[in-house]
Amino acid sequence: MARGDLILDVQKVHKRFASKGVVVKAVTDVSFTVNEGETIGIVGESGCGKTTLGRCIVRAYSASEGKVMYTTAEGKVVDFLKVDKKEMKKIRKEIQMIFQDPYSSLDPRMTVLDIIKEPLKANFPDMSNDEMNERCKDIAAKVGLNVAYLNRYPHAFSGGQRQRIGIARALVLNPRIIVCDEAVSALDVSVQAQVINLLNDLKKEFGLTYLFISHDLSVVEHISDKVGVMYLGRMVEYSKTEELFEKPMHPYTEALLSAVPVADPDYQMDRIPLQGEIPNPANPPKGCYFHERCRYCKKGLCDVEAPELKETPDGRLCACHRALELNLRGFKYEEGAKDKQKTE
Ligand code: SF4
Repeated sequence: MARGDLILDVQKVHKRFASKGVVVKAVTDVSFTVNEGETIGIVGESGCGKTTLGRCIVRAYSASEGKVMYTTAEGKVVDFLKVDKKEMKKIRKEIQMIFQDPYSSLDPRMTVLDIIKEPLKANFPDMSNDEMNERCKDIAAKVGLNVAYLNRYPHAFSGGQRQRIGIARALVLNPRIIVCDEAVSALDVSVQAQVINLLNDLKKEFGLTYLFISHDLSVVEHISDKVGVMYLGRMVEYSKTEELFEKPMHPYTEALLSAVPVADPDYQMDRIPLQGEIPNPANPPKGCYFHERCRYCKKGLCDVEAPELKETPDGRLCACHRALELNLRGFKYEEGAKDKQKTE
């Protein structure tokens, strides 16, 4: 497989949770594709289904419907959601996850070396202990950990260092795809920047593909090639990062962008307040899920008919009846202005 080839094809994935007779639609009909070497940002408010989607993709949750077609390192295309246990074990090595909370995602009773080594023990039972230790030290050094401290316990490390341990644990199996679930959200802003730069460096060095799940658009902008915006379990827009930030197509994307703080007030969009609360996913509104909060809602259309995620003439995906007529504007980019707009 070459860089740029299709590696993941997510097709109409649904995830429903049922409890006490209530069915919650956490993810509804989500489709998108990922090419090898890309970073795809998945954004949305808390509870929009982005983490559930990530977990369905790595099969930590069983999707209720849909397919995740994955092209393996050998070029074989498999439905990741349907493969049997034996094949799953093989593929699992190729798709790893980094979790949100570097404090609770590491076992406090294990040394850092044992934490990083654990996936090797589970997946390579024939590998000698010395080989495993060598591999762990090598990866620990690559993520910026001091190898002299690997016999210490997680509590002896700062939040940023703990997230580096989580990254090392994901990398030690030499994966092709890493799902980063709010991987920097629990960190201070300056540490966030260090971890994002590290993820970018590792991507180049190991040819990784990332699915980067975050509620923070400014972080997603910095790391992603394409961005998918989720609202109430549905993907409402999927575009290249620069296109999405300059010219959002969905009113929800426009509102999210208006809330992103930028360093230079000349580049700040006027804040677009969203009316009301995010609806209950167990009882979503009829028609467009966003219509009760949308300032462009067309009565008789948007509150009746649910818009499908459709390809636009310029190859973007958007689920809005009025996407082509609204001509929304996002950040004002000038040549080289992208970095200027970012908050540190
Ligand atoms: Fe707004 Fe209508 Fe588009 Fe929904 S379909 S986002 S309500 S304009």
